[in-house]
Amino acid sequence: MNSTGNRRKTRTVKVGTLEIGGQAPVSIQSMTNTDTTDAAATLEQIKLLAENGCELIRVAVPNFEAADALKVITSRSPLPVIADIHFDYKLALAAMDNGICKVRINPGNIGGYKKFMEIARKAADLGLAMRIGVNSGSLERKWYDLYKHSPSEALVNSVFGFVESLEKINYQNFVVSIKDSDVLKTINANRLFAVQTEYPLHLGITEAGPLETGMIKGAIGIGTLLAEGIGDTIRVSLTASPVEEIKIAKKILQALKLRRFNAELISCPTCGRCQVDLVSLSNEVESILEHYDLPLTVAVMGCAVNGPGEAREADIGVCAGQKKGLLFKKGKVIKRVNLDQLLNVLSLELEKERIDHKKGAGKDY
Ligand code: SF4
Repeated sequence: MNSTGNRRKTRTVKVGTLEIGGQAPVSIQSMTNTDTTDAAATLEQIKLLAENGCELIRVAVPNFEAADALKVITSRSPLPVIADIHFDYKLALAAMDNGICKVRINPGNIGGYKKFMEIARKAADLGLAMRIGVNSGSLERKWYDLYKHSPSEALVNSVFGFVESLEKINYQNFVVSIKDSDVLKTINANRLFAVQTEYPLHLGITEAGPLETGMIKGAIGIGTLLAEGIGDTIRVSLTASPVEEIKIAKKILQALKLRRFNAELISCPTCGRCQVDLVSLSNEVESILEHYDLPLTVAVMGCAVNGPGEAREADIGVCAGQKKGLLFKKGKVIKRVNLDQLLNVLSLELEKERIDHKKGAGKDY
């Protein structure tokens, strides 16, 4: 197991200005759920996702009107745009003329070898990236029997067939995804692929479900692989707003110390000693911390007697009694204030930390 160093060695794939694999940090992507032919609405959503930390955006291209709308979308998008194509290879060819950086297909459902290779040749000629995806839903018929007994092997064998075809034309600017709605099958298949090649992996759990279920499946499936050093770009698929996908992806990467987006919050689970609404308090602190990209751990604890001691590993902490609140650092109380002042003193302390950090006095992961 490793959570920070020792990421699997992978090739660098260029997607517009962004790199996936190699030395690049694990990137976060999502997919718009607007009608792609409505370029204005799609761009608005892309901008919102970019503001929240999305780094690559995929848009569905189900018809030629959508492929055409890509001209406007790609010319104004703040993020590299990936065209998501199913079944009709001509849509992929059209999308590639309209400013995209990467095309995502499942070769198993694109209409056969010749059509797959026509897309790949055009991507190679234009210097575009591809993602080739394999999942149980798009698996070629010849692997059905193997899938029943050894799903990971079937998925990986299938993807290797496509990889070899791309290597024959000397095209290697692609990322692979091997997904299943079953978390364990996804983990096993990605492990099997990862030990045999250096192609970057896009991680995700397909059809993961609504917010809570999808978040848990994503955290377990994607998180397990990332903790083992496997994975170069991620999408947390949810039946929910794509903004939620970004928030959760960031939390997964931060929990594994692969990226840092803001100061880390820890909060106690509360017990019978807690005399305040700690759920609201910790939510408020979490919102404040979103504005502080500092290498700090901040604790929110539910009682003054045990809180500072229980959270002595935290750099800064607050704990709340019935009327008074405490601000502490490394377990030592440094201020006692009225409860309604607690968030203010915490914000002031964070500002001080920000200034110290800018001066180079802070620590880093
Ligand atoms: Fe209970 Fe206090 Fe510990 Fe929170 S900090 S779990 S309220 S003892």
